[in-house]
Amino acid sequence: MSAVKAAPLDPLALAARLEAAALAAGFRVERYGEMGGCPLLALTKRTPGPRPRIYLSAGIHGDEPAPPLALLEMIEAGVFDHRATWFICPLLNPAGFIHATRENAAGLDLNRDYLDLHSAEIRDHVTWLGRQPNFDLTFCLHEDWEATGYYLYELNPTRRPSLAHAMIEAVRLLCPIDPSAIIDGRPVAEPGIIRPIDDPLMRETWPEAIYLRAHHATLSYTVETPSGFPLAQRIATHRAALDAALMLATRG
Ligand SMILES: [Zn+2]
Repeated sequence: MSAVKAAPLDPLALAARLEAAALAAGFRVERYGEMGGCPLLALTKRTPGPRPRIYLSAGIHGDEPAPPLALLEMIEAGVFDHRATWFICPLLNPAGFIHATRENAAGLDLNRDYLDLHSAEIRDHVTWLGRQPNFDLTFCLHEDWEATGYYLYELNPTRRPSLAHAMIEAVRLLCPIDPSAIIDGRPVAEPGIIRPIDDPLMRETWPEAIYLRAHHATLSYTVETPSGFPLAQRIATHRAALDAALMLATRG
């Protein structure tokens, strides 16, 4: 929850920049819905051959600007290349960005709505997800006002090779790792790494990552930068962590 407010980010202008950058980078741009006049965007780019299918999302909380801006920078920089087939939902809650609120215009936290599907945004997102194949790897990008450094959640029920240490080590050069033993009410497994109860049946409300774990992916990360740090540093931190994870996940 926000003690200090983020500066609002114009979601329409951001969506237009995302669309233009994605088209220039060879993505297919799909508008799977709209909210408050702003399109709900899905960007896909298929690479022929046996490549991992990687999904990234951002902007589900309107007071967390670094995640969509980091994805925009990475699209513009050509990060999403032939190494994988890419699926990107870069701005899941555009209405939240108008007033820099965590929730959507109706006051719902969309990242608790993936089981109940009360909101049009998440119903439309889930409908779009239902048309996609399974993913090999997913990332949900976030920020946290209470964090004192970077941290991440890992859902890895089949014990696939973890990318968590590579991300933490890449981040360490740019941003402190949150040293807390308890983060957001959950004990850390190692500094900056939370491995929560990941059985969907144990959860009363579903965040996006639990939905992905239930229906789409066996390796999922939710990554969090500390909102109190400068925006440029948070964007660079998200990029560094993702660059390291993507390098490891797509090598060979
Ligand atoms: Zn968030």
